Amino acid sequence: MPRSAIREIMALASGRPNVIHLEVGEPDFSTPRHIIDAAFEAARAGWTKYSPNAGLQTLRELVAQRAARRGSGQPPTADQVVITTGAIGALYSALMAVIDPGDEVLIPDPGWPNYQAIVHLAGAKPVRYLQQAARGFLPDAAEIAGLITSRTKALLINTPGNPSGAMFPPDLMAQIGEIVARSGIYLISDEVYEDIVFENAHVSAAIEVPPDRVFIVSGFSKSYAMTGWRLGWLICPPSLSSIVAGLQEPVTSCASTVAQKAGEAALAGDQSCVAELCEIFRRRRDIVIEVFGNTGLLPATPQGAFYALIDIRSTGQRSLEFAKDFLIDRNTAVVPGITFGPDCDGYVRVAFTTSDQDLREGLQRLRAHIERLARGR
Ligand code: PMP
Repeated sequence: MPRSAIREIMALASGRPNVIHLEVGEPDFSTPRHIIDAAFEAARAGWTKYSPNAGLQTLRELVAQRAARRGSGQPPTADQVVITTGAIGALYSALMAVIDPGDEVLIPDPGWPNYQAIVHLAGAKPVRYLQQAARGFLPDAAEIAGLITSRTKALLINTPGNPSGAMFPPDLMAQIGEIVARSGIYLISDEVYEDIVFENAHVSAAIEVPPDRVFIVSGFSKSYAMTGWRLGWLICPPSLSSIVAGLQEPVTSCASTVAQKAGEAALAGDQSCVAELCEIFRRRRDIVIEVFGNTGLLPATPQGAFYALIDIRSTGQRSLEFAKDFLIDRNTAVVPGITFGPDCDGYVRVAFTTSDQDLREGLQRLRAHIERLARGR
């Protein structure tokens, strides 16, 4: 497995006092109280055993109802839902269900590094399509179509996107839908940030792609600040859900039952916690605009998720070298863009997962550091 550049930064940061952490990719607050309480109650009531491979039927139904409520395409049945160990478990299950060794899978550049790793682990070949700054970090449908070969089995997309915060507009999703229908490949759509949106409504791939060709990946980690509970889900093509369920047995058998009960409380309970969490990230996103908006260093305003890419090309440094120097010089950690793909080496990622005050201070340090290096060239 390739060593991730973010691990190098984290290792460097761990020995240093008072570092401002702009590298961490998870909400900085704890899970809402009513969800935690539900988990305690469930454990006491005996929900301490295995669940079926596909997850508790009650939770599968809640996930299906949630998708139906959102009106994202043809409403899925609970049978199409498989509960997984985090959204990463859903991504891995979808890939394992459809690919054979040697197949090609199209993944984004920049994109979450785990995509490359799981495609590699599943014995397939990752092929990158670009999401360049000039296009607002969105892909070009024609480029994707041009990369499809007889070996291509699946296209993986992510909206709202990590690391850029870009969101697919309806027309792009429609073009993706056409490509999938025409080529007969599978679409795996990672929508784990679907609740953290600032400008436009989230467009699910389920709207445009026939159910027998699309896997929708999402989960609890981001919407309910539940990263440590390891709970996600996969909405599968109807004919593949039993294969995906069976795949859970040799990998994790099932997601944690007590976490699944907590997940039920999350989906069935008051949703105001989701709106509050989104509002906090919107406020912090606005701090990014306040610090970087007029500098030309923020190529695209993040529309969702909790990340932004900052342009460091004016410094002449590559992203890993930059991130290391910046950490040592200004005690602030960011993620080198190279982590997300070869095309992202001119950028660093900042996450808005720290207090407003630390975020503003860290961003000001970043801006000052880039401007000083650029002046000194
Ligand atoms: N997809 C993306 C784009 C992510 O950024 C993450 C988490 N960093 C995940 C999936 C995985 O989520 P989970 O913690 O639920 O496995």
